[in-house]
Amino acid sequence: MDKLSILNIVHDTSVDGPGFRTAIYAAGCTHQCPGCHNPQSWDKDNGSLFSVDELFDKIEEDEFANVTFTGGDPLMQVEGFTKLAIRIKQESQKTIWCYTGYSYEQILRSQRLSQILPFIDVLVDGRYISSLRNEDLQFRGSSNQRIIDINKSLINGNVIIWNGNHVLQNIPSLIEL
Ligand code: SF4
Repeated sequence: MDKLSILNIVHDTSVDGPGFRTAIYAAGCTHQCPGCHNPQSWDKDNGSLFSVDELFDKIEEDEFANVTFTGGDPLMQVEGFTKLAIRIKQESQKTIWCYTGYSYEQILRSQRLSQILPFIDVLVDGRYISSLRNEDLQFRGSSNQRIIDINKSLINGNVIIWNGNHVLQNIPSLIEL
């Protein structure tokens, strides 16, 4: 199986979705948004190669952290990230957030890009637009970007914005309180 080009793996981040998460930073992005926070992520060759198994083992190192795919744009390597998402869903209870520069509508129109949708929980979509930057926004940089509940959106056939319900998942000590 082809390996994924990965810029970084960060454990216990709390800025890429609710709770503590393991963030997988994909290398490679062609959106080239002016003001991008991470332009070194644009070149896929800047990453190190990991197999799906190796990434899954890294994710499993933290029993309680959920997972975020970010970058770069993970959908530029959608085949590999879909395999990773399937493995996570088959073998854990972890939620998956995925950031992308594509809009949800663009993804739906693409058979290739949309293959990942059934296996992720939340999609943060759209390019970063610096004129729409708002530092008060949670988990996104500009106000055009949407935090989409993918399961509900696929069932309803409309964009359903995430309502915050995943915050306590996989944090047993908090759930028991
Ligand atoms: S999609 Fe994200 S990583 Fe890619 S250029 Fe835009 S802000 Fe940067």
